[in-house]
Amino acid sequence: TQLSVGQLAELMKRNSSEIIKFLFMLGNMSTINTTLSDEDIELICMNFNVTPHKEIIIDEDDIEEQISNRVFDEKDLVSRPPVVTIMGHVDHGKTTLLDTIRNSHVTSGEFGGITQHIGAYQVSVSGKKVTFLDTPGHEAFTAMRARGAQITDIVVLIVAADDGVMPQTKESIDHARAAGVPIVVAVNKIDKAGANPERVMSELANEGVMPEEWGGDNIFVEISARNGQGVDDLLESILLVAEMQELKANPKTLASGTVVEAKLDKGRGPVATLLIQQGTLKAADSLVVGSAYGRIRKMTNDRGQELKTAGPSMPVEIIGLNEVPQAGDVFMVYDSYKKAAEIAQSRENKKIERERNATSARSLEDMARMISEGDVKEINVLIKADVQGSAEALKASVEKLDVDTVKVNVIRSTVGTITESDIMLASASNAIIYGFNIRPTAAIRKKAEEEGVEIRLHNIIYKALEELEGAMKGLLAPVY
Ligand code: GDP
Repeated sequence: TQLSVGQLAELMKRNSSEIIKFLFMLGNMSTINTTLSDEDIELICMNFNVTPHKEIIIDEDDIEEQISNRVFDEKDLVSRPPVVTIMGHVDHGKTTLLDTIRNSHVTSGEFGGITQHIGAYQVSVSGKKVTFLDTPGHEAFTAMRARGAQITDIVVLIVAADDGVMPQTKESIDHARAAGVPIVVAVNKIDKAGANPERVMSELANEGVMPEEWGGDNIFVEISARNGQGVDDLLESILLVAEMQELKANPKTLASGTVVEAKLDKGRGPVATLLIQQGTLKAADSLVVGSAYGRIRKMTNDRGQELKTAGPSMPVEIIGLNEVPQAGDVFMVYDSYKKAAEIAQSRENKKIERERNATSARSLEDMARMISEGDVKEINVLIKADVQGSAEALKASVEKLDVDTVKVNVIRSTVGTITESDIMLASASNAIIYGFNIRPTAAIRKKAEEEGVEIRLHNIIYKALEELEGAMKGLLAPVY
């Protein structure tokens, strides 16, 4: 974390002169721009009675992201609504339960509006809010966890009383356990003639999920998701478990959280559902999500109503990002659009670098080897760049490369992302694709792999040229 005196003062809502004075008393001369060491920050926090928190660490080795570790005050923490995922075997009633809860417990003050399926919704239960992720099943849950996102506080395990414990019931238990999330059991379909809740209980006990009266620590509620019976009890139980968890967040800081769902909308562009985990998201905030960024153009709730602000545990849909993020990506608000853009750009560069290294020099290397063996006299190159200027500059420079008897042919040089037709052309002509300041989609990368076409990604012209020249000389520096 690189924080200056001024930045820390701002985070602590103190005057920088107070910090400068404190440091002076310790024998350190400083100004508002002095960068603080971790020890200094700790000492200052101790002196001013502030608890430093590393809020979210997205990626240990990413310096930019460390900057975003924010310091905030323990006393700003307030309780927040629980975030609940419903899991269970197929056909046991997940969707029905989600719909029943949603339709019977609209958040007060938010009547009206039309139900929007944005991937999560919030309801009001006895004046308290509960957030439900409405992509049922453990696929979404697992996908999120695979990306390091843990956003669920409570799992509702739904088991049909006429069917009992099934393979996906067991899987759900495993997932909840692996994530360390408490399980509330909903024994469903008790309205059915063949319902046998006792059997469900003993089968679950075999899996180690037991009610308190049997010595376990799980709450069991019998419900009918279809006719609503017991659903209020279930919600009350969720609140009870949430209370024991003492879920807290700081609404007073810049917002951060996780993408629940994202898509490209023809009319509106990239649309993302964000679950706010810390801070308050404001309607015109600038944020970074993975390598996407933007300023929020419109923020709406799960009823399509426009919002000015949204606090912890609230799911909102936003538009304004420059590209579609992935579910499970962490988002972070920055205090200026410029900063958000810079951080996104730096991540993008790192990503290009990583991808470039990943698509290591298989065919270019082959090419270099064949040149050194005298088998190849020319290299075909296809150039794709983000802007016309770069495409032309790269083409001109590549064509000027002059190494002994080896020639470079630029067979196509255009602006835009790599298309399937580029891959086919490259494949047909044994060409290497040079991408400059662009990033191929996963589908295109897969296609390229199938076709044995190599894509080299660069964002600095001379590096691209250096690499190509190396290949022409029949020697390729190892790629790191
Ligand atoms: P999911 O696959 O877990 O999402 O299950 P669904 O919610 O789609 O439910 C599967 C079937 O069970 C549907 O036909 C529902 O109408 C029915 N169902 C769900 N809950 C109940 C219930 O409480 N009672 C009865 N009788 N049927 C239910």
